[in-house]
Amino acid sequence: MATDYDAPRRDEVDLGEDSLEELKARRVDSQSGAVDVDEAEVAESFELPGADLADEELTVKVLPMQQDEFRCARCFLVHHRSQLAVERNGELICRECV
Ligand SMILES: [Zn+2]
Repeated sequence: MATDYDAPRRDEVDLGEDSLEELKARRVDSQSGAVDVDEAEVAESFELPGADLADEELTVKVLPMQQDEFRCARCFLVHHRSQLAVERNGELICRECV
């Protein structure tokens, strides 16, 4: 009796892991296709806040310098254009470094 009760439970667990792996694979696929809706659906149904956070960090890191930003020639930090103080010999210098 104990064996009969145990068998279906194990099947259930295996099934869950399988579908999770499947969704992870789908997640990668949808990322390459840049489908945001699909990604949100996966995160909601499986509640993986850690994985979601990792995605956000990746997005921030990959984000290139914006057109309204510049890199200071002295502190080498990227500032918004409003922080641009002077331009000398093609070098952009922020207000903090002037
Ligand atoms: Zn600077």
